[in-house]
Amino acid sequence: MYVARVLYPVEVLGPGKRVGIWFCGCPRRCKGCSNPELWEFQERYKTTPETIFEMVKAVSKEHTIDGFTITGGDPFYQADDLIELLDLLKEISDDIIVYTGYNREKIKPDDLKNISVLIDGEYIEELNDNSLLKGSSNQEVYILDDTKSDKYRTYFNTESNKVQNFFTSDGVVSVGIHRPNF
Ligand code: SF4
Repeated sequence: MYVARVLYPVEVLGPGKRVGIWFCGCPRRCKGCSNPELWEFQERYKTTPETIFEMVKAVSKEHTIDGFTITGGDPFYQADDLIELLDLLKEISDDIIVYTGYNREKIKPDDLKNISVLIDGEYIEELNDNSLLKGSSNQEVYILDDTKSDKYRTYFNTESNKVQNFFTSDGVVSVGIHRPNF
């Protein structure tokens, strides 16, 4: 599998202090995509679900992990590895948000079983309306885990879009939902 970034604490893509995981590889090429550098698989980002899990486990020994936000690239472009990773991550937190450019109907229901919140659909720049968690208004936010409904309802009622900058060995990574002219 190919994963380009694992960042903590991500506080702008879901409730609490989360681990953000950016898959590398996406077939879609949406106009205005904020991560075009993650479209191609890159050998330097080759890894395994177990390696990512061990990395996250090390973080969890010293910090509280409130959940995971998995984006990219398109995590479902590497569906088998994603499913394997979700099975491992749920041991640490079962609050897992996954972004994908595929529409929900294209995903096997069984592959959604460990996902609390799915945000689906390609990014359409003209429909970027600064919605919380959504790149563009055509995307849907599905709360798949009923036990998280209240938590996410509160989150949507009390939060607004923000961005957060991380200083990494790859340079500055700006995390969050950006406006089209960012
Ligand atoms: S689906 Fe997401 S990662 Fe892929 S091109 Fe569109 S915006 Fe970029």
